[in-house]
Amino acid sequence: MTDEMDLIPVSEWGFFTFPRPMVIAGPCSAESEQQIMETAEGLAEFGIHVFRAGIWKPRTHPGSFEGVGARGLKWLQRVQREFGMKVCTEVAGERHVRECLDHGLDMVWIGARTTGNPFLMQEIANALQGTDIPVLVKNPISPDLDLWIGGLERLHQAGIRKLGVIHRGFSTWHDIPYRNDPGWRIAIELRTRYPQLPFFADPSHMGGDRKYLLELSQRAMDLGLEGLMIESHCHPEVALSDAKQQLKPDELRILLGEQIVVRDADSQADDYRENIDQLRADIDVIDENLLSLLKERMNISRRIGEYKKDHNIAILQMTRWDSLLEEVLQKGTRTGLSEEFLRTLFNDIHEESVRIQNEVLWTKE
Ligand code: PEP
Ligand code: MN
Repeated sequence: MTDEMDLIPVSEWGFFTFPRPMVIAGPCSAESEQQIMETAEGLAEFGIHVFRAGIWKPRTHPGSFEGVGARGLKWLQRVQREFGMKVCTEVAGERHVRECLDHGLDMVWIGARTTGNPFLMQEIANALQGTDIPVLVKNPISPDLDLWIGGLERLHQAGIRKLGVIHRGFSTWHDIPYRNDPGWRIAIELRTRYPQLPFFADPSHMGGDRKYLLELSQRAMDLGLEGLMIESHCHPEVALSDAKQQLKPDELRILLGEQIVVRDADSQADDYRENIDQLRADIDVIDENLLSLLKERMNISRRIGEYKKDHNIAILQMTRWDSLLEEVLQKGTRTGLSEEFLRTLFNDIHEESVRIQNEVLWTKE
């Protein structure tokens, strides 16, 4: 896939009302016709136009509720007919795609456990070839941007032109409050490379608990993402999957209508432009200074490397590094810079110094 992916803009899919956010909502799983209709009605009432429900559920443990299967597709057809909503579900292979196409689903998404599997992605891409339904691709569960892009490439090569992505966070062994690590940096990297891809966040699977929905949705909006996929169930307390993270339709109405603050992505107003341009020019000057200071620092590292080599001294003196870092942290945090930022920054600088000194050491004169 070149960075110039030719896509049909999401504004031409006829799915979403604008402005931001574009919302996809519905239960984690379709459980019964009654649950689907009651949830869809509650969502349609306040203008949600795109309905989600998992029909085939990829569960971690065998014996968990694995979805109602193809019979649930008929319930989604009823949602289309009675509420005029667009409907979508997760597909994980050729058979799922076929069933969805046979039942006239409007859109499909590919789940995190499938995106990471090139065999399945190719199978799905082949099955979708020649159709024009939109396809949304969730990030793989591991923080591997190339795997995500590879999946998009396979669909793009199969001629899919209505493509989008859903960021749902990454599995991690770190102790974090969320179910998945938001890893926003990877999402931002993808967005920077392919700005034309419509970008959804899935705060439900990211947070794993409804108490995090607002902060994660807000973050997604602040980063300028276009859409949200949020799980909503008419009776979350008895949901057969992901009960903790689902919201009642009415609660979702409040979250979207009263709690999330959506700021404009940009503005062309004259006074805004003038001030922001000035501030950005100031930043550019500082960045230039930073670059030349970094270059100067690395030159000195190189000279130290040469000096150590002449005196047959090893590159790394841990005590020197420890005291340098400690001093930087002390001085830096006093100015109000965060410790985490300083640690990351100076670790990177140190790593580059060591690399340069290593290069000097192994360069033959
Ligand atoms: C889902 O959307 O219900 C789902 C299973 O999500 P994920 O693939 O992100 O785990
Ligand atoms: Mn779920």
